Amino acid sequence: MSLPEFRLLRPSTVEEAVRYLSQHAGNIRVLAGGTDLIPSMRQRLFEPEYVLDIRHIGELKGIRQGAEVEIGALTSLTVIEHSEFLRRHYPVLAEAASTVASPLLRNMGTIGGNICLVTWRKGCGFCIKKDGDLCHVAPGGSKCWAVFSGDTPPALLCLDAHIEIASSAGLRRIPLREFYTGIGDSYRRLEANELVTRIFLPAASADYRGIYRKLRIRGSIDYPLAGVAVVLKRSNGHVKDARLAITAVNPAPMLIKAAPQMLEGKAVDTNLAEAVGDLAAKTAKPLTTSALTPEYRREMIRVFTKRAVLAAANN
Ligand SMILES: Cc1cc2nc3c(=O)[nH]c(=O)nc-3n(C[C@H](O)[C@H](O)[C@H](O)COP(=O)(O)OP(=O)(O)OC[C@H]3O[C@@H](n4cnc5c(N)ncnc54)[C@H](O)[C@@H]3O)c2cc1C
Repeated sequence: MSLPEFRLLRPSTVEEAVRYLSQHAGNIRVLAGGTDLIPSMRQRLFEPEYVLDIRHIGELKGIRQGAEVEIGALTSLTVIEHSEFLRRHYPVLAEAASTVASPLLRNMGTIGGNICLVTWRKGCGFCIKKDGDLCHVAPGGSKCWAVFSGDTPPALLCLDAHIEIASSAGLRRIPLREFYTGIGDSYRRLEANELVTRIFLPAASADYRGIYRKLRIRGSIDYPLAGVAVVLKRSNGHVKDARLAITAVNPAPMLIKAAPQMLEGKAVDTNLAEAVGDLAAKTAKPLTTSALTPEYRREMIRVFTKRAVLAAANN
């Protein structure tokens, strides 16, 4: 499939980028690595008049250590996967990044693009409701259930990450947990004139044991059909703090809010890990895909959560 026609804009600073976004708001799409945007444009899911290629904004690349960790939105998933610092202090993020797509796509794909990944509106190859009224995936429903399928956001939610958003009005900063709406076709709180610029990891989230587990058809490349991130800190054999988040089974990546309370102060055993798995499975609302049944995907959330909790408590 060929690309629709568009005008390419290539800013070299954030200021220039947000100026373009304001000028063409509603008729412009941001291109970071392009690994998701370009296939979506080929499928005519989007036909913007302008494409804003932000890859030349050098200040948005790289990982900086300070009172908190700052990751530029254009940092590639490969850099995150191989960062010695992240692997040591924020292992759940490095592991989640390492499972995205394939090595070539991780070289191109960015963390900002992964956070902003468009929800999966796939009826028969692409979203048939895009220009129509009937949803073939959830007929009869009033809400769009398009699934969010990014791998790094559940890890970032467990780490209590914040994101910085730039516009011509300046910068704002929000917890990532407030970024997603839970509604498939308007899945993120990002205005048309705004750009995600940085991700921040608090020092307080460092050095948790972290695990990411993912279900996919082909282990070498595919999107998650279910994903679970767990972080956990212990003291004297008991859980001091824990967080759990799931992805690819709802229109947003979701923190399981009751999980910390269930785990804290306890020694992890199989029964406790199973109970946390049941809790996570209840939150998952997968729909039918061409590949696997919703029941199987929900069951895998339960199984992966149990395994991830046990692994995080024992490694
Ligand atoms: C075969 C294949 C397999 C894949 N498998 C996986 C997988 O297993 N897991 C997974 O998570 N993803 C997967 N992906 C999707 C994609 O490769 C990754 O999510 C990647 O991280 C997207 O980053 P990008 O920089 O390429 O985003 P882009 O394609 O450039 O952008 C993605 C979306 O985010 C917007 N955007 C990008 N950056 C910003 C920003 N800074 N501010 C505001 N909006 C922005 C774009 O406008 C676009 O709508 C797969 C893709 C393919 C083609």
